[in-house]
Amino acid sequence: MNRAQALEFLRERKPLYWANENKLPFAQRGRQQLAAAHIAEASAALQRYAPLVERLFPETAPSGGIIESPLREIPAAKELLRTEGKIPNGRLFIKLDSHLPVAGSVKARGGIYEVLHHTERLALSAGNISTGDSLAALADHRDFFSQYSIQVGSTGNLGMSIGIAAAALGYRAVVHMSADAKEWKKALLRSKGVEVMEYTGDYSQAVSQGRSLSAADPKSHFVDDENSADLFLGYSVAGERLAAQLDKAGIAVDADHPLCVYLPCGVGGAPGGIAFGLKHIFGDNVHCFFVEPTECPCATLGLVTGKQSGISVQDIGLSGITEADGLAVGRPSELVCRLMQPLLDGCFTAPDSVLLPALRLLHRSEGIFIEPSSCIAVDAYRRTPISDDNATHILWATGGSLVPQDIRQQYLCSK
Ligand SMILES: *Cc1c(COP(=O)(O)O)cnc(C)c1O
Repeated sequence: MNRAQALEFLRERKPLYWANENKLPFAQRGRQQLAAAHIAEASAALQRYAPLVERLFPETAPSGGIIESPLREIPAAKELLRTEGKIPNGRLFIKLDSHLPVAGSVKARGGIYEVLHHTERLALSAGNISTGDSLAALADHRDFFSQYSIQVGSTGNLGMSIGIAAAALGYRAVVHMSADAKEWKKALLRSKGVEVMEYTGDYSQAVSQGRSLSAADPKSHFVDDENSADLFLGYSVAGERLAAQLDKAGIAVDADHPLCVYLPCGVGGAPGGIAFGLKHIFGDNVHCFFVEPTECPCATLGLVTGKQSGISVQDIGLSGITEADGLAVGRPSELVCRLMQPLLDGCFTAPDSVLLPALRLLHRSEGIFIEPSSCIAVDAYRRTPISDDNATHILWATGGSLVPQDIRQQYLCSK
């Protein structure tokens, strides 16, 4: 499908698969703003932060303060999908970032990394610690951090990740929530002492409000989901973590054994960072796909038109409204579009009507509960262009473990 056709499908809300025409062989991608050395720095920093994470969040003790999720093969889900229609050859796995400790979503990767990185810089410049000291002691500096704020704009899960981490260190945490944010996410944050500001507009408006309020306060740090390299690099470390898990499971990734990863996409930071990390390990042997709602395909639109963050879904007559609250972002990240342009394999869009059937299918077949936004990956898997017998397909589950029981029942039972 060429650009003009893809744009037509986007306007008409028709589910599409667009193979990225700008993709280059990994070795020919050219010079990019971020590179392998930056991923390595983020990875080393997360090792440094691990003792502090373990003190702040004792549930991370089994992994020594490293926040990571399981990779699981899901043969029963694959069988059930087969009974419903054609599926691609190869094995099917799910990466359970829905069950990442602390924040229960993929945002635990980027969000907590950015809060800790900011904290380390602040503590070093104030002399609370010296280079080389263990950071664990920072758990006892709540009075110091309480003079400072951390703010973020969010559709829900980023706010939970930043809010929970910032509040645990003692910061004043302020989350600017878009109209799409679920009530239970706001309630959970307030219960942790986080200030939740509500907006009637969409995500871009919540972000710009948060950005300007934070800019007016010299003791406030704004986590900028549209531009933050820190967030992006926190996500990118998922690449080496997944590589270690695949290796341990004896799963080869090479020219004869392609790896295919289906990534639910909002502003682009989480799926972009993960794809970036994976490409730096597996190069052309990994195929990374973004998946977005037909009513809110912002990254697909930015990449298809080449306008990146210069175009929003409202500009082509879409509402941006979707049941996939984590993906309800009308304008993509400029940073991510630029980095993904030569790397990403392609984009899928899917209607909201696929979300709850996929949610129930995973629950019924595998006993796995993930939130609606995450479920969009299942639809991309069914429609993937990669059909090698030796392929490994991974659904990236991006959220769900913190969803309260009563809401789960609604998703599982409602018509
Ligand atoms: C945030 C989020 C995503 C997408 O991440 P972006 O960085 O916004 O692209 C996907 N799924 C869920 C559940 C999320 O909360």
